[in-house]
Amino acid sequence: MIKMPRGTKDILPDESYKWQYVEDVIKGVCRDFNFKEIRFPTFEHTELFQRGVGDTTDVVQKEMYTFSDKDNRSLTLRPEGTAGVMRSFVEHGLYGGALPLKLFYLISCFRYEKPQAGRLREFHQFGVELLGSPSPASDAEVISLANAIFTRLGVRDLHLIINSLGCRDCRKEHSKALKAYFTAHKDGLCDTCRERLEKNPMRIIDCKNESCKEIAKDAPSILDYICGECSDHFEETKRHLTAAGIDFTVDPTIVRGLDYYSKTVFEFVSGDIGAQSTVCGGGRYDYLARELGDIDCAGLGFAMGLERLLLVMEAQGLYVGEDRPCDVYIASMGSEASVYASGLAAKMRAAGISAETDLMKKSLKAQMKYADRQGARFSVVIGESEMETGRAQLKNMATGEKTDIDLNDVTAVSAVIKEAK
Ligand code: ATP
Ligand code: MG
Repeated sequence: MIKMPRGTKDILPDESYKWQYVEDVIKGVCRDFNFKEIRFPTFEHTELFQRGVGDTTDVVQKEMYTFSDKDNRSLTLRPEGTAGVMRSFVEHGLYGGALPLKLFYLISCFRYEKPQAGRLREFHQFGVELLGSPSPASDAEVISLANAIFTRLGVRDLHLIINSLGCRDCRKEHSKALKAYFTAHKDGLCDTCRERLEKNPMRIIDCKNESCKEIAKDAPSILDYICGECSDHFEETKRHLTAAGIDFTVDPTIVRGLDYYSKTVFEFVSGDIGAQSTVCGGGRYDYLARELGDIDCAGLGFAMGLERLLLVMEAQGLYVGEDRPCDVYIASMGSEASVYASGLAAKMRAAGISAETDLMKKSLKAQMKYADRQGARFSVVIGESEMETGRAQLKNMATGEKTDIDLNDVTAVSAVIKEAK
């Protein structure tokens, strides 16, 4: 018996409606903010992620699903969405169109990680990218969009934490200070962080190792190093957030796991789902377009983990949508009636009524039991007399009430069904 690979999850029919509900709410909010959907490949050239996500990140160093295809090209299953969106943006010259370009995506991502609650090897992200605007109003817009989704879903008690990572110039000074500080505490750092010390000392702040975390607590804060422009940008972002009625906390230890961020970074964190508590994370990446293409184009975005979002919603006992039952179950007695039922189902479906017929040659009793288990809202039985007269009894399964219907007038049948909703 072949089982599913570790870290993957089937979303079975008795659960998929929750995903549809959450995705519908998300798409609705995107419409309100006028973000358009983008779809892009599940795999890309490995180099895209090495350059886009960053060679020194955990994602690239340890977590990628990389393989060679039959032509010996190195390809990688996307570990995140931003690099692919940015590649597409550059490749199709979208920066030459109207800006900002506001995009969203609903995708699965792949990371070779240790599976646990809220951490899978194939997981799902909703993400947005706002491309072409350097202004702090867009930082707030993107954060507001995430916030609007949580609000519309009824999610409570999420904590928004923000930080600024500054630009390259301020980062340089900060990086020197970090190097000096962590070198002085080198003995307490894990092996990976000792390596990070040379290549990318800021990554140490993101280490999950307890001893590293303890040391990182007192590390020099980026906020003491950011330049005038970055500082103004951060202040203005905060003013926009306050104006939008969004509460936040500034936390200089938020550095995010991907290399491409600059200026604003943020996370929405939940206290309800254990250790994997970041539901949404994002930030500005004004250097990414230059890294991947030959253009300068500001941008920012976030990604929200849908598994974690659903975990929070379930922990909070929130409405997660409902399975939509079939409108009518058309039962039939005998092969003639079965053919008639198929024709009737076709007419009903064309009129916008969802209809189901017996496909198993079940007895009438077994058909009714099936209809009941499916939660069909109405049922109708087709036998000889129904075929002869063209009339039947439409039964409301919840109340038992029966309505005499003309089988040749689906519009009238449809009215009876819609009225009962
Ligand atoms: P973490 O610190 O939890 O590893 P991350 O910084 O690696 O998160 P991002 O790359 O920012 O995560 O991805 C955005 C969001 O995607 C996360 O906040 C989380 O909700 C979700 N996510 C990331 N990795 C996984 C995973 N392996 N399984 C499930 N969800 C994930
Ligand atoms: Mg991670």
